[in-house]
Amino acid sequence: MFVLKKKILFLIVDGLGDRPSAILNDLTPLEYAETPTLNALAARGICGLHTTIAPGIPPGSDTAHLALFGYNPHKYYTGRGVFEAAGLGIPLQPGDIAFRTNYATIEDGIIVDRRAGRIRDDKDELARLVDGLHIDGIQAIFKHSVEHRGCLVLRGDSLSHQITSNDPKREGNPPPEIAAKEKSAEASAQVLRKLIAKVEERLQDHPLNKQRQALGKLPANTLLVRGASSAVQLPNFEERFALKGAVCVAGFALYKGAAALVGMKVLYVPGATGRVDSDLNAKIKASFEALEENNFVFLHFKGADNEGHDGNFLEKAAYLEKADKALEPVLGRDDLVFALTGDHSTPCGIRDHSADPNPLMAVSSDCLRDSVKEFGERSVIAGGLGHIRGVDVMPIIMGLANRTKKFGA
Ligand code: ZN
Ligand code: ZN
Repeated sequence: MFVLKKKILFLIVDGLGDRPSAILNDLTPLEYAETPTLNALAARGICGLHTTIAPGIPPGSDTAHLALFGYNPHKYYTGRGVFEAAGLGIPLQPGDIAFRTNYATIEDGIIVDRRAGRIRDDKDELARLVDGLHIDGIQAIFKHSVEHRGCLVLRGDSLSHQITSNDPKREGNPPPEIAAKEKSAEASAQVLRKLIAKVEERLQDHPLNKQRQALGKLPANTLLVRGASSAVQLPNFEERFALKGAVCVAGFALYKGAAALVGMKVLYVPGATGRVDSDLNAKIKASFEALEENNFVFLHFKGADNEGHDGNFLEKAAYLEKADKALEPVLGRDDLVFALTGDHSTPCGIRDHSADPNPLMAVSSDCLRDSVKEFGERSVIAGGLGHIRGVDVMPIIMGLANRTKKFGA
């Protein structure tokens, strides 16, 4: 019999989950928010909770996204740097090692600003001081992103990411010396130390820094590196799920990076900023357009996580109401499988990620809908999906879309 394979829209609302708070009448921001669209979708679908990584473990956004894409992060995660590199569009090769970087200000051996005054000048010239350098046969590839941030990739033989960071984490301290965590990483640590010394030398008298100092601004005169990770070949998402055409609609580099690492096509959507002011309507529109030619869209909303980190209870609820409104057009798309969850909880009372499970819904016109009529952390406990692991979310969505293979005869 011919079975229709459905197209899939998978929305991850970053930092969705939360905890009840007295500020919100003992409700969570999601429970407190007016979310008629989410409730209507939940009523049409199957709901439940997922624990992204493992019980008790607060996930990072990077490991969480790997898990929700169906990749065991304990197997595939080597560090944050490669996500940054992929998000900035640096094509990685197996064996590369990648770092997140900051331009910083150093004075008499002490880091006086880890962000070099959040430098907003044209940094192309500074980037050229690093990009293309060769140290002991190792090539440096460098790209800057917003403000002081950037990404460094080292390419060459026998590199290891088992090296420490030179980021003192707070101002007023000297940068700790980069060291090898294991013997095989000694040459890599040495290359990085030499590279940073070389970069410092080149930044020292750079006209842009002279100009900044003349204006009373802090110079960008050193480079802090962290999040060392090595590029591993991840199994391709489309091949893995036999799914032609997988696309990412996200604003923030990390999520574009996560999608690019598993081989999704990353769309550029004007107005998608990766902040609370992001144009969610534009992202929904771009997702629907992408679904005409593709079978799978990973859509990412970032703002709830930002409000959670800032401890803004009411603002987090307001952001979820904005998301709810933007999702109205999904109600008219009975042809799709629609899934929505958070990558982790970011409770406003904690201002950081927590290990609390996240509510999950999967909606398909012929799914075994359950009794859940409201989408919230506690209401979904009664749902038909029960409580699952993050890595099981993708297979469940694929099953609903009639895109999984029979096991046995
Ligand atoms: Zn996150
Ligand atoms: Zn976060």
